[in-house]
Amino acid sequence: MLIFDHVYKTYKGGKKAVNDVSLKIERGEFIVFIGPSGCGKTTTMKMINRLIEPSEGTIYLEGKDILKEDAVLLRRKIGYVIQQIGLFPHLTIQENISLVPKLLKWPEKKRRARAAELLKLVDMDNEYLERYPHELSGGQQQRIGVLRALAAEPQLILMDEPFGALDPITRDILQDEFKHLQQTLGKTIIFVTHDMDEAIKLADRIVIMRDGQLVQVGSPDDILRNPANEFVEDFIGKERLLQSRPTIQTVEQVMNLHPATITADKSLTDAIRLMKEKRVDSLLVVDENKVLQGRIDVEMIDLKRKKASHIEDILEKNIFTVPKTALLRDTVRKILTRGHKYV
Ligand code: ADP
Ligand code: MG
Repeated sequence: MLIFDHVYKTYKGGKKAVNDVSLKIERGEFIVFIGPSGCGKTTTMKMINRLIEPSEGTIYLEGKDILKEDAVLLRRKIGYVIQQIGLFPHLTIQENISLVPKLLKWPEKKRRARAAELLKLVDMDNEYLERYPHELSGGQQQRIGVLRALAAEPQLILMDEPFGALDPITRDILQDEFKHLQQTLGKTIIFVTHDMDEAIKLADRIVIMRDGQLVQVGSPDDILRNPANEFVEDFIGKERLLQSRPTIQTVEQVMNLHPATITADKSLTDAIRLMKEKRVDSLLVVDENKVLQGRIDVEMIDLKRKKASHIEDILEKNIFTVPKTALLRDTVRKILTRGHKYV
């Protein structure tokens, strides 16, 4: 659906807002860009929408360089929702929703029918069609902002912190509504937020940005279980990291059943050497790079019962992967205090 090929944006004054971004987004995906203020999220959205041009690199929409796309066609293909929805105060709700259809010269009757159909999606009746924005609540106005982006049936919808200005309850409701809407309509969505809860709730894949670069791309599960670095861990937050604890508790349960020696050593050969040297008969390998894949059914290695030639085989299958976080250190400490040996 959308490809970023080494995209850069340098603003006047030399600020690299987007710094070598490459990414592939599939049709129907719900992608959430997340990162601290100023990391380049809005710049990225504006480049997709061609409000600004990349300094270098190319963005392809359905295989075509967006800079070569017809301007009106691009408006139809891409819907755009921002925090400051910018409904026109002197236009009715119907007219506000119908801006792009009007640009595309849809007849009045069709525009009206489409606006009514969209209002129904968010449980607002036809009575609202003739109202003006100031006669709606903040949450309703934001819904209209979303509907306006959907009006001409775009294939791709960009949403730049669309719910940022709403109170938490309305925000929660709109998130649910919108996720449901996306599942029904099957659109490709790129959604920007700096709120990890929102990202986890909505995303098929999360893209974590920092200083114009992509730090990590993965499903919410991937990212929670395997944060790429401390920046991502901080962004996820201690509380949420703790919530991924059940898997680790299961590791502890395994450790309870199988007295073992833990090694933080990553190399297989080293692990085997250590086992021989220390004459330990069972082993749990902790590899910080692979992280909690939930391979809990792994049998512990019992050297007394296995032939030496099988050790490598067994080890290969038995590499536990746990992130190097405070959480892990706590777990390891707990296991050790139960009398297991650490090498
Ligand atoms: P985000 O949406 O992640 O908060 P932005 O994409 O808005 O970040 O901004 C990225 C960086 O580019 C920031 O440092 C910002 O100050 C800078 N920037 C944004 N727009 C402009 C502009 N028009 N001119 C110069 N610098 C800009
Ligand atoms: Mg922004």
